[in-house]
Amino acid sequence: MRRNYSNLMIVGAIFVFVVGCMCPAGRNSGTSTPEPSPSPSSSQTKGSPANDTKTSPNKDEGDFKVEHGSVSNAKYTELAKQIKDEKLLENAAAQLNKALALPEDITLKAEECGEANAFYDPNAVEISMCYELMEHLYLTFRNSGMPDQKAYDKMFAATRFIFLHEVGHALIDQYKLPIMGNEEDAADRCSAFINLEELGQQGVEAVFAGADAFRLQSKSQTKTKGDLADEHLLDEQRFYNSMCMIYGSNSPKYQNIVTEGYLPKARAERCEQEYQKTTDSWANLLKPWRKA
Ligand SMILES: [Zn+2]
Repeated sequence: MRRNYSNLMIVGAIFVFVVGCMCPAGRNSGTSTPEPSPSPSSSQTKGSPANDTKTSPNKDEGDFKVEHGSVSNAKYTELAKQIKDEKLLENAAAQLNKALALPEDITLKAEECGEANAFYDPNAVEISMCYELMEHLYLTFRNSGMPDQKAYDKMFAATRFIFLHEVGHALIDQYKLPIMGNEEDAADRCSAFINLEELGQQGVEAVFAGADAFRLQSKSQTKTKGDLADEHLLDEQRFYNSMCMIYGSNSPKYQNIVTEGYLPKARAERCEQEYQKTTDSWANLLKPWRKA
C-alpha cells in the first residue's frame, strides 16, 4: 500500500469499529498532551442515572452521524480528503449504528482542533478526532526510530484505540452508565473491551499501539503536579493497564508480555481475572442497548 507520509494520507480504515465506548464534554483522550489541562470547560451537569427519566433503555432514538470539519492548515488537506473520500467516519458510524441503539444522535467528526487531542463533548454530543493528534502519534512513533511504514501503521492503530476511548465517554454519557471509579480509566477499558472482544487482530494491534504511544510519551515527559492531579491516569499506568488487558485476554498467547518484562509478574497474576471483570462489566452495561 502506497502512503504519502508527508501529507499523513490515510489509506486504511482508521474508524472501522464494531461497537463504541466515550470522553465527556471537554474531556480529552489525555493521549497527546504532555501537560494536559484538567479540561475545566466541561459545564454540563450530568443527571444521575436514577434521576434521569429522559431516556428509556432499548429505544433507538438516535444515530451516529458524521460531519467533516473545514481545514485551514494545508498539511492536513490530504488527510481530511482521504478520510472523507474513503468514508472512514461514515463506515464507523454505520457499524456502530448496526450494533447499538442510541437515545439521541452522536456526531463523529474528524477535524482540525488547534491541538493534538480527541474529545467527546456532551453538550454538543460530538466526538472530535483531531488531525493534530494523528500527526502527533505518527511523529511519536517515527521519532522513536520506527521506519515510516511502521510508524504510519501504528498511528492508525493507536487512533483506533483513542477513537473507541471517546466512544466510551459518549456511551457513558448517553446511557447514563454507572462508573464507580475513574471515568478516564473506564473509557480506556471500554476501548480495550471493544478492541479485544470485537475487532480481532486489528483490535489487539490497536491496544498495543495505544500502549506503545503511552510508553513513548512517558519517556519524554517530566511529571508535573498537573499530571499527577489530572483525571487521566499517568501514561505509564495506561501502558501497564493496556498490557494487563491484552495479557488477560489470552495469557498463553501473550506470555511474552511478561517474559519480556512489559508487565511485572505480580500484576500479571491477576490480569485474567481483571480482564474478565472488565469485559463482563462492559458487556452487561451495553447489553440493554445492543441491537439484535
Ligand atoms: Zn477520555
